[in-house]
Amino acid sequence: QSVIHLEDIRKSYKIGNNELPVLKGVSLDIFKNEYVALMGPSGSGKSTLMNILGCLDTPTGGKYVLSGHDVSTMPDDALALVRNKEIGFVFQQFNLMPRLTALENVAVPLIYAGVNKKEREEKAMQMIEKVGLGSRYKHKPNELSGGQCQRVAIARALVNDPSLILADEPTGNLDTKTSVEIMEIFDKIHAGGNTVVLVTHEEDIAEHAHRIVRLRDGLIETDRRNPKYLTAT
Ligand code: ADP
Ligand code: ADP
Repeated sequence: QSVIHLEDIRKSYKIGNNELPVLKGVSLDIFKNEYVALMGPSGSGKSTLMNILGCLDTPTGGKYVLSGHDVSTMPDDALALVRNKEIGFVFQQFNLMPRLTALENVAVPLIYAGVNKKEREEKAMQMIEKVGLGSRYKHKPNELSGGQCQRVAIARALVNDPSLILADEPTGNLDTKTSVEIMEIFDKIHAGGNTVVLVTHEEDIAEHAHRIVRLRDGLIETDRRNPKYLTAT
């Protein structure tokens, strides 16, 4: 079963009286436990596609089925519910709440999911430990390094057990050594059975994925298995 099923997805932006077509017919299936890197030159439509995949924006045309929900025609409030349940986001800028501790940040999605306080703390702590930050759970974002902040963000993305992890340039603000550490966490998450889609400009980062999709001018240019992970059959 597809986690992501895209059929001829189109998106254009209105600029004055003109329509700027940005996605021009993207069809794509991503299955459970795939690990996909989305690449392409600046302006090719990656952010626009990620916003649609993440249910932050709706397409102008085509069909998007996310884990069995047809989200392409859903009203905003229903979309928000599906988003909170099905998707864990990781951003380049971490997007943590500055006044909350690491543990509290990780627990935020559980508040929206209606989980009680005790269970929230237990689950959040499990996730914090999973990303190797157990000793720093009481720290606030400004007391943590960039890499540590990103670990918190990853723990937060995982805490609701979403069907899809979406990461937009997750190593864009990190040095090379820290980027490698963060990618090792994504590798681990994938190995644990999660479905991961990440946008990156960097080939070294994309090499962690098992499938590499390249956009150009609003269309999929290539869609290839990473030869590193091709197993003999
Ligand atoms: P990428 O992430 O690959 O750089 P984007 O999806 O950000 O590509 O942008 C693709 C094109 O769409 C660019 O020409 C960009 O200027 C335009 N664009 C993106 N978002 C908007 C928007 N909200 N309004 C108008 N134009 C947009
Ligand atoms: P990226 O660094 O991922 O390529 P961009 O710099 O293209 O991202 O875009 C950053 C954000 O600004 C995106 O959410 C995109 O939708 C929005 N955006 C990009 N171009 C435009 C535009 N011309 N008008 C309005 N919003 C835009």
